[in-house]
Amino acid sequence: MGHNTKTMEKIFTKHQETIAHKIEPKSQLKNWRDWKWHMRHAIKTIDEFENLTGIQFSAEEKKKFEETQDRFPLSITPYYLSLIKKENFRHDPVYKQAFLDNRELIVANSEMGDPLSEDHDSPVPGITHRYPDRVLLLVSNVCAMYCRHCTRKRKVGDRDSIPDKSQIKEGIQYIKDHPQVRDVLLSGGDPFLLSDDYLDWILTELRAIPHVQVIRIGTRTPVVLPYRITDDLVNMLKKHHPLWINTHFNHPRELTTSAREALTKLADAGIPLGNQSVLLADVNDCPRIMKDLVHKLVMNRVRPYYLYQCDLSEGLSHFRTPVGKGIEIMESLIGHTSGFAVPTYVIDAPGGGGKIPVMPNYIISWSTNKVILRNYEGVITSYQEPDKYESTICDRNCDKCNLELDVAEGDEMNAIGIEQLLSDYDDTISLIPSNNERYERRNEDGQD
Ligand SMILES: *Cc1c(COP(=O)(O)O)cnc(C)c1O
Repeated sequence: MGHNTKTMEKIFTKHQETIAHKIEPKSQLKNWRDWKWHMRHAIKTIDEFENLTGIQFSAEEKKKFEETQDRFPLSITPYYLSLIKKENFRHDPVYKQAFLDNRELIVANSEMGDPLSEDHDSPVPGITHRYPDRVLLLVSNVCAMYCRHCTRKRKVGDRDSIPDKSQIKEGIQYIKDHPQVRDVLLSGGDPFLLSDDYLDWILTELRAIPHVQVIRIGTRTPVVLPYRITDDLVNMLKKHHPLWINTHFNHPRELTTSAREALTKLADAGIPLGNQSVLLADVNDCPRIMKDLVHKLVMNRVRPYYLYQCDLSEGLSHFRTPVGKGIEIMESLIGHTSGFAVPTYVIDAPGGGGKIPVMPNYIISWSTNKVILRNYEGVITSYQEPDKYESTICDRNCDKCNLELDVAEGDEMNAIGIEQLLSDYDDTISLIPSNNERYERRNEDGQD
């Protein structure tokens, strides 16, 4: 399909050909490039894994793997499996993300099934409404590969949580009924495992809602099933702009010829691409690996968006790093490389508080007219603040303000949280936890 033989060779290596032939003796390049072939032949058993990789586990270890698999099922695309390097496989970043680890059965202190309370913040099935102006819509619970570090591990392979068409309609209705929702994130599972037509229907329905300004899709197919990014898919997606896509590369090894080709197609269709990595122990917890990853991403027109601290989901303890490791990585990126290659490091607050950005400290001290800062090299500098700054008391009477906001288009929402404390037009002076005893006493005494 328009590729010269040379690129074809790189896409279908000898090693991949061997794997394809073991799966199906007559398979050819055209099968390898067919995403449905990979789905049909996804590796779901330990025996198959051993057979295809040539890796042999001990009987004891296998028994334990089976227990792990009963709890958290296995699924690997032949493509992603082909990226595992057999020598030293136990430390291979692809192997670690794809294959069972018996430590998944350990439930460590403070781990939870649903650490982000996604199910609690769900007004209707399939919708998570956590932030004022955007919602998560789960459209699929199927994935090409089951990432071992999945934050929604509790739902993987769970037949009861497959969203059917009526559930998705309910979700779309919820969005229609909530004019504050201007950004819809399709997630899952992987939305790209739906058929083109079905996804087209969902996107058309969402596009018909006047207040939905942007649609985002989160998918790992460019990483684990790059052949899913077909010309037909891309031509369909193009009809629904503004559409943004976030993908999930964790290691530079994942940016193969096939993956890069998929990214090129998406970028050529005018889709802004972002990447969300998860910081994983023994996979990418290294400043050099991360720098290499972000450089490879931007060379492929993918903007590193978030670096996630690994969530407190059950079975992930062996993947978790201290927060300090993330800060160390951010220290090695900020200033040292292009600003647009630096992701925002976030901790998704357990209990559903949303993403909280964390980074090294750059402000060292402050006076009434000077800020003391340090840069990435350790140079300490001072910024002289303006002698005169006429701060206008903002009453949110934007009609009269000379900053000329088009009030009809401006965001109407009142400030919440810390923004509320900072504002002039709201007289809240403190935020108090709901179970504060001192305040409870006041209420009993009829005060306040
Ligand atoms: C991550 C997330 C979003 C989107 O957050 P952004 O910071 O805008 O990318 C929205 N809803 C939920 C529930 C999320 O977890």
